[in-house]
Amino acid sequence: MNAVEARNLSFRYPDGRAALDDVSLAAAEGETVGVIGPNGAGKSTLLLHLNGILPDVLSDPPAVFVHGLPVVKGNLYRIRSEVGLLFENPDDQFLSPTVGEDVAFGPRQWGRTEAETAEAVRSALADVGLAGFERRSPQHLSNGEKQRVCLAGILVGNPKVLALDEPTRALDPRGRRKLLAILRGVAATKIIATHDLEFVAEICDTVVVLDAGRVVASGPAAEILADETLMREHGLETPALVKYRLRG
Ligand code: ADP
Repeated sequence: MNAVEARNLSFRYPDGRAALDDVSLAAAEGETVGVIGPNGAGKSTLLLHLNGILPDVLSDPPAVFVHGLPVVKGNLYRIRSEVGLLFENPDDQFLSPTVGEDVAFGPRQWGRTEAETAEAVRSALADVGLAGFERRSPQHLSNGEKQRVCLAGILVGNPKVLALDEPTRALDPRGRRKLLAILRGVAATKIIATHDLEFVAEICDTVVVLDAGRVVASGPAAEILADETLMREHGLETPALVKYRLRG
């Protein structure tokens, strides 16, 4: 059974704009899938469907499945405990005045004791390289740190699926390397929407290319990224890393 599957998913925003048009894709358990494509291709919209943030009225019949479970209203609690979604802008994700409170939000909601919560927070912060950051204010951190706090808030729930929207957008090279190392250490199935094709080349097993809401190509990351014509046709560019490997 696939960890994540979209079957003929179409979606229009309320203003009538078609954002996804007959999109089908699958991620096997433990796989890392890159979703790439130009601006406006539908990448963020797709991710928002994976844990039922979109659409407001869930489609019938269901078009998205997580470990076989349809993403429908009655399943949202379970789906959201299985799928952790990291938004593009970390500031959209903070809920609390301190890092520790923020990461503790989930465990408290799930009824953990204070001692269990404190241990879960400590461990999640350590996992993202922010041990001891509990009393810091999220607003006074670097972009990379902010994003890692958000990631800790997701990882604390041990999601089986991680959906990441442009995770490297605001990171400097060091932040990017750290994120790469953290993600490599997380066993969850990962769906990464990004413009950063070097990042895709480093971490993704397979790639789905979206353009104007449609899947225009999908397959092994190395093959798709190396197809320079395909990349150019869809406003993308074969990463230098891949070209270098091809030459080598
Ligand atoms: P990407 O993440 O690939 O840049 P998006 O999923 O953000 O693409 O957008 C897909 C399409 O949906 C674009 O045409 C975009 O303008 C449109 N869109 C995104 N968000 C909204 C919204 N809230 N209301 C109406 N249209 C939207």
